[in-house]
Amino acid sequence: MRPVETVEAAIGLGSNLDDPARQVQQAFEALDALPDTRLRARSRLYRSRPQGPQDQPDFVNACALIETALAPAALLDALQEIERQQGRVRQRRWGERVIDLDLLLYGDRVIDTPRLMVPHPWLHRRDFVLVPLAEIAPGWTIPGVGTVREALARLDEYYLSEETP
Ligand code: ATP
Ligand code: CA
Ligand code: CA
Repeated sequence: MRPVETVEAAIGLGSNLDDPARQVQQAFEALDALPDTRLRARSRLYRSRPQGPQDQPDFVNACALIETALAPAALLDALQEIERQQGRVRQRRWGERVIDLDLLLYGDRVIDTPRLMVPHPWLHRRDFVLVPLAEIAPGWTIPGVGTVREALARLDEYYLSEETP
């Protein structure tokens, strides 16, 4: 017999439709209810301006830390199933949605497949991700970037030097 190996993963949550704060709270509960998974920490809820199309409501964003035995692809399946159950329908890119669940970090793993990229490619360039993540995991190292705390401190540089979504 071998103990089941678990990994810590970080999830980014966002919503701007149908009572966003309630959607995010519901998604926290859904994460905690996933098989072989426990919710370890949840950030406070933050309000942010939409990226992309501006003719949509503000977002509520948050981050969660989970401990899971699910493999990365299975975890993404589970996140998409939660999105589906909360009624997400795919519309325009970066458009309005009842819930968005992004797999931000999975231990120290780097995954680069068409369906799943970890760390999430925009993680270190988005204040609405880094601010809540820094609340619950400031010392976590983002592979290829540095700690969450460092990435947050460097955000201003990115905003000045590059086009960001
Ligand atoms: P963004 O990825 O810029 O935050 P988005 O969240 O609006 O945009 P979605 O429409 O939710 O994008 O997802 C598009 C696809 O991204 C998904 O079908 C999924 O396969 C892929 N994807 C790749 N890496 C990840 C990841 N780390 N977490 C979630 N989805 C991912
Ligand atoms: Ca997203
Ligand atoms: Ca997404």
